[in-house]
Amino acid sequence: MEHLAEVKNLKKYYPAKKKLFKERQYVKAVDDVSFYIDKGETFGVVGESGCGKSTLCKTMIRLTEPTGGSVFFNGRDIASLSPEEMRLMRRHIQIIFQDPYASLNPRMTVRELIKAPLDIFSDASEEEKMEEVFSAMELVGLNREFMNKYPHEFSGGQRQRIMIARALILRPEFVCCDEPVSALDVSVRAQVLNLMKDLQEKLSLTYLFISHDLSVVRYLCDRIAVMYLGRIVEIAEKDELYDNTYHPYTRCLISSIPIPDPEVKRHAMILEGDVPSPYNPPAGCHFHTRCPYATKECSERYPELREVAPGHSVACHFAEKIREGRA
Ligand code: SF4
Repeated sequence: MEHLAEVKNLKKYYPAKKKLFKERQYVKAVDDVSFYIDKGETFGVVGESGCGKSTLCKTMIRLTEPTGGSVFFNGRDIASLSPEEMRLMRRHIQIIFQDPYASLNPRMTVRELIKAPLDIFSDASEEEKMEEVFSAMELVGLNREFMNKYPHEFSGGQRQRIMIARALILRPEFVCCDEPVSALDVSVRAQVLNLMKDLQEKLSLTYLFISHDLSVVRYLCDRIAVMYLGRIVEIAEKDELYDNTYHPYTRCLISSIPIPDPEVKRHAMILEGDVPSPYNPPAGCHFHTRCPYATKECSERYPELREVAPGHSVACHFAEKIREGRA
């Protein structure tokens, strides 16, 4: 299959306040991350809050400039594009944010909000643009009679539909979805997720889907990467990741998914302690301060991401032993 996007050794470091006589420290929000996304695929990125998944999303589409590495989109390195070239590229790459209320201008009507990208990119007449707006509203299940209403007059689910209509009105190829359903009521989440699935099929979209919710990611994604403190620790196809989990961190995350059946008992692996400070991540494997299998070697040497099965890579020195229960 053809790769639509390819991320190579992407880094995003934020400088911390410099202390007197001390070297400047950096928060390594995204540290040497590589992966690819195929055309028509939904690629999921999961991890706890603060693991760098939203920064990865924003850095990948250059909403924030990368510190290093490259991002290829349809074979072109977007990190090297001029501002004008990047502006034109934005037609093909859109984003849906987590909180639709915060990302919709409260002074604009639905019509103005959805039409805004066309006003920037299209030379079509006002009438033609309105036809596009109506068809985008229809696509996401919004009645065209709502066009003169304001965001505060809608429910959370409807506001997210407005966001989706705005993201899709330019008919992009690639959509970054940054926790698009986590601010919604549970009852509305499934509707929005099903809508996104339908739209993907209809419009041949490719998604990067960021979430902290493994059950949501399992429902929507084809392949999944698990992030911890700015790095990918495991990456595999959805079923492979859930059925043959290698990394202890992924095991903990999966074991904490609630099972909606009182008869089924699952032994959750409880993670000890908090996520370490990203200013000063632990040496060696960043997970060693919380890992039940950690040894001296883990605190001395960072485990590189390596393939343990076709298409399945893990960053753990003892992945095979842990998987087979020998650790
Ligand atoms: Fe745990 Fe060591 Fe594997 Fe890190 S490398 S996940 S600390 S066993």
